[in-house]
Amino acid sequence: MSSEERSSILIIYTGGTIGMIRNSVTGALESFNFDHLLRHVPELRQFNLNISSRAFNPPIDSSDMNPALWGRIVEIIHTNYDKFDGFVILHGTDTMAFTASALSFMLEGLMKPVILTGSQLPIGVLRTDGKENLLTAIEIAAAKNADGSPVVPEVCIYFHQKLMRGNRCTKTSADSFDAFNSPNCTYLATAGMEILYNRHIIRPYDASAQLRPNYKMSSDIIIFSLFPGIKQSVVEKILSGKELKGVIFRTFGAGNAPQAQWLVDALERATAENKVIVNVTQCSTGSVKMRLYETGLQLLEAGIISGRDMTVEAALTKMMFLLGQSLPVDEVRRLMKKNLAGEITCG
Ligand code: ASP
Repeated sequence: MSSEERSSILIIYTGGTIGMIRNSVTGALESFNFDHLLRHVPELRQFNLNISSRAFNPPIDSSDMNPALWGRIVEIIHTNYDKFDGFVILHGTDTMAFTASALSFMLEGLMKPVILTGSQLPIGVLRTDGKENLLTAIEIAAAKNADGSPVVPEVCIYFHQKLMRGNRCTKTSADSFDAFNSPNCTYLATAGMEILYNRHIIRPYDASAQLRPNYKMSSDIIIFSLFPGIKQSVVEKILSGKELKGVIFRTFGAGNAPQAQWLVDALERATAENKVIVNVTQCSTGSVKMRLYETGLQLLEAGIISGRDMTVEAALTKMMFLLGQSLPVDEVRRLMKKNLAGEITCG
């Protein structure tokens, strides 16, 4: 496609604060329909773009997001993939980092922009952050190189002047406009007077790639966080669960756990029962390095896999995706360590 042609953008409205309005009787925030967005952001009509929309009916608070609804987003993107140059997903902020991470694995071979955004204040409120987030997300989704290829052919979150790789993001503030960060990955772009792209970080465009949508996700997983004084009987009960197939094990510092034999034994038993256990740090920056201390080495010896610098959101949704593909357990373990969609810093 030539860069002269008018780009087409599909906005997928799932819900969240960006599209909410205050109920005058109860005072609570409630979802309202997508047409209100157009009314509150008339600037949308000024873009030299073809903009279409699809909306969840009813829109949801993102606390109610789940794998079936991720599948619905994947299906909308898949069925409209050839008709649009880019996709903007309006989503509640609370679980946006989970959705962005999940989509990065579910949309294999993606070579078009999928930009998630939302807001901390509803779009109808005077000081809303939603307008800038929405307008810039659309501009990024429509951005093309001179040869007509998309500038950002991957799943991202755009929020408060930062474009971040979706599967490197975490919601870091419940009330600031600057609500997201990608602590272990440089921003893909920053938006001031100009949008400045960090092209060396952005996934290179591959014209031969084919979109392969994946819908199967396993939820037989738990996120299990260590704390000083954690109790043997509780840990043993959790790790011996019959349905349990995978554990995102949140450890201290560079991937360390207490040197208690009962803990190593419980982890070894779970590993022997074909449960996949991935070590991610409780720290917000940095990486798991299990060979650094004895307290990490014992985990490596118990068969625990290093999640390196993956966010909890990325490690969890990657495991949901891999376990959902019914792969042999050794293959799941191998792929958990491998960078599949930019979720791990390589090198
Ligand atoms: N509870 C809302 C949601 O995640 C918050 C937001 O949109 O920012 O849907």
